[in-house]
Amino acid sequence: MTSIFSDADRFVDDALAGFALAHSADVARVDGGIVRAQALRPGQVAVVIGGGSGHYPAFAGYVGRGMAAGAVCGNIFTSPSTGQALRVATAVENGGGVLFTFGKYAGDVIHFGEAQRRLRADGIDARTVLITDDVASAPEADADDRRGIAGILCVFRVAGSAAERGDTLDEVERLARLANSRTRSHGVAFSGCTLPGASGPLFEVPEGMMSIGLGIHGEPGVRDVPLQSPAELALTLLEPLLLERPEGAARAALVVNGLGTVKYEELFILFGYLARELEKQGVEIVAPECGELVTSLDMAGASVTLMWLDDELEELWTAPTSAPAFRRGTLDSVAESGGPRVTATTAESTVPAEQREVPAAAQHAASVARTLLGAARDAVRERAGELGDLDAIAGDGDHGIGMLRGLDAALAHADGADDSAGVTALLVGAGDAWSEAAGGTSGALWGAALAALGEALGDRTEYDPTVIAEAIRAGRERVVALGGATLGDKTMLDAMLPFEESFATAAADGAGVAQALLGAAAAAEAAAADTAALSPRLGRARPLAERSIGHPDPGAVSFSIITRSAARALDDLQEV
Ligand code: ADP
Ligand code: MG
Repeated sequence: MTSIFSDADRFVDDALAGFALAHSADVARVDGGIVRAQALRPGQVAVVIGGGSGHYPAFAGYVGRGMAAGAVCGNIFTSPSTGQALRVATAVENGGGVLFTFGKYAGDVIHFGEAQRRLRADGIDARTVLITDDVASAPEADADDRRGIAGILCVFRVAGSAAERGDTLDEVERLARLANSRTRSHGVAFSGCTLPGASGPLFEVPEGMMSIGLGIHGEPGVRDVPLQSPAELALTLLEPLLLERPEGAARAALVVNGLGTVKYEELFILFGYLARELEKQGVEIVAPECGELVTSLDMAGASVTLMWLDDELEELWTAPTSAPAFRRGTLDSVAESGGPRVTATTAESTVPAEQREVPAAAQHAASVARTLLGAARDAVRERAGELGDLDAIAGDGDHGIGMLRGLDAALAHADGADDSAGVTALLVGAGDAWSEAAGGTSGALWGAALAALGEALGDRTEYDPTVIAEAIRAGRERVVALGGATLGDKTMLDAMLPFEESFATAAADGAGVAQALLGAAAAAEAAAADTAALSPRLGRARPLAERSIGHPDPGAVSFSIITRSAARALDDLQEV
């Protein structure tokens, strides 16, 4: 449970503001996250880490010399937006380029990926190293599909130390990849965590049991087994890590991590057994860490990470660091390294739209779009709880909250838009607002899809159903380009494709827009229900694919809710 907060929606903002105040000598708050108080040396690589909040000390606590230049901080368990990643990266970049590094989660990959694309378009070299240390999330053969958990700390240390000593972006990237390839984690949960303001935990572990293979976003473990003694638990956690021990590796960084409510004494008990077992296995432990390092709100659980060291990695792992939540050794004085103090930045100023004559039809289309967005928001608000529950079965339970936050922001943008705005500006702005506010995977994809829809619709003098069919296709194509899903992966795409097909067929057959939309929404609804039989191949639900079978995909269901409510609203408009 969370006891100290004023408003669940402000939880992250208020926490970050207080954090920046408590550590004002070291860090500064910028729009989108936390950066070092002191600018990087000119030409120094900016290591930018990040992800959802709720994991402190990850990510803000790891901003400092020998660690990250900046941390992009999303909402709780929600990927930060593209805009946030861009603002933090531009605040810290000082001529050496940017290395984004973070745990592999679909939403983060999409948002940071778009930020990387935009930085490069602005002439800033930017790279990404995804962290994939969790052995429970995919077999070794699919190691690249694994998610990132506490092993992120090892990669942050290596990349941050390399950047601190002045390595080039190529080198920092290479070393971060090397660190990730030699880092493995495995965790266990004893009870789930509760989102601030929520009435119950995201999952429960039955009495007398423990859940092996935890996620750090309230995803339940992959299998429940009876509670074990510390000696047995140490063996259980180490087993898969030792199975993937690289040839000849004899030294390892050991990280024993508490997820939020396991006492330090318990962690030390576990540490003792782990240390003895590793010694037996001929593994020498180097500069170990034991404590709360990557948490999951108030989850009771623990994880073990090994980074198998070689000479390069050992030097970087043991190098001096000075971050609020991680200090080691002594660095040169700040004055020697630091540039001027960073000042807080404000939100990206919006570029005023070009003053062009917008055709009346495009203005009318904008007002229709506003009405449909309103209907969609109301419908999603009604069913947000249900969407959250669906997402909690194998995902992180945030789909309802995220969709509502995105739609609220999109609608607020639409309501605030000038009456003379055309449908393109309205939808592009609404899409950006959606993506920015919602954060998660679905928010990034919906935001991008809405923007693509708006661009394809264009500000025309006339909109016939085939133009709209083309725009729907453009929206779906953007979702595929960013998210990489294919039919049958159990994502929103499984509802989008039948929707698109049905609409296009009806339009080609001469149906009116409202009629075509009603038919397409029905197709989406049926397709969304059919996803229950599928096993997820993408997104947060994939590691727990089995649990998801028998339940429809939350993103497909919300797509059908939105299209159905929009179709009805359009039908109502035309009846008037
Ligand atoms: P997150 O997974 O970041 O918590 P949400 O819970 O809001 O985001 O959204 C989850 C939904 O997003 C899934 O049910 C699925 O429909 C959709 N989704 C996830 N990954 C993809 C992808 N790569 N392409 C298309 N849709 C996706
Ligand atoms: Mg989710």
